[in-house]
Amino acid sequence: MRSICAMRSLLAAAAAAASAPNVLRASAFPSRPPLLSLPFRRGRALAARNMLGAARSVSAAVQSRAGGGAAVEARAAQSGEIHVIVGPMFAGKTTALLRRVQAEAGNGRSVALIKSDKDNRYGLDSVVTHDGTKMACWALSELSSFHEKLGIEAYNEVDVIGIDEAQFFDDLYDFCCKAADRDGKIVVVAGLDGDYKRKKFGSVLDIVPLADSVTKLTARCELCGHRAFFTLRKTQETKTELIGGADVYMPVCRQHYMDGQIVIEATRIVLDLDRSTTAAKALK
Ligand SMILES: [Zn+2]
Repeated sequence: MRSICAMRSLLAAAAAAASAPNVLRASAFPSRPPLLSLPFRRGRALAARNMLGAARSVSAAVQSRAGGGAAVEARAAQSGEIHVIVGPMFAGKTTALLRRVQAEAGNGRSVALIKSDKDNRYGLDSVVTHDGTKMACWALSELSSFHEKLGIEAYNEVDVIGIDEAQFFDDLYDFCCKAADRDGKIVVVAGLDGDYKRKKFGSVLDIVPLADSVTKLTARCELCGHRAFFTLRKTQETKTELIGGADVYMPVCRQHYMDGQIVIEATRIVLDLDRSTTAAKALK
């Protein structure tokens, strides 16, 4: 796979060089420093000073640097990566994502953070963890609009793209393919693998075959404190995409997920009975 990517990159670089002979050679740019061998080894402290406020400051960096086309070639010659972080709600996925992205920024890389504009619980201009850590981001309805929003030159400068709440992006697969395979980006994706029914949520699982690494995080069961793998919805609402926090969802272990389904089903039956009794009385 990597050799095919490398071939594509070389072909793309050769084609770009032929059509734009004045751009700088890829070798004019410093090579990327070695990657961390473990995705989340570095702590939050490393990061804050170099946080880019998403990619907004990338534009300025681009403007101060000649030869944007050369950056494309340099990046295209590098192989990208895709890292996927999944788990139930309250498992620390966003925290892990921010740590990774901030660590990359601390290493001198240009980073950009994206989240879905469907989730506006904490506003649209930043990603916020349940414990209050935040980082500026781009709130988008679809990932394909990222290039346009950021600008092609700024996009070319970005080394690392973090995507939060990835289950809400229908074009996740295509975006990750292009960003990592063709554009040489490191893409770190965080999202729910399953919904409250424990069925796959959006396209997050579809990118597992593309990924360099997959990390499944767990939370603490809200009822017994054991490891929680699932998200239990506490309400009767049945649509898949229901944005909410602890008021609507809780992380649970397998046993309490099963118990919860029984309780929810029993509640539904009682409510249905109550409604039909009320309706029958109204008819009399
Ligand atoms: Zn439990």
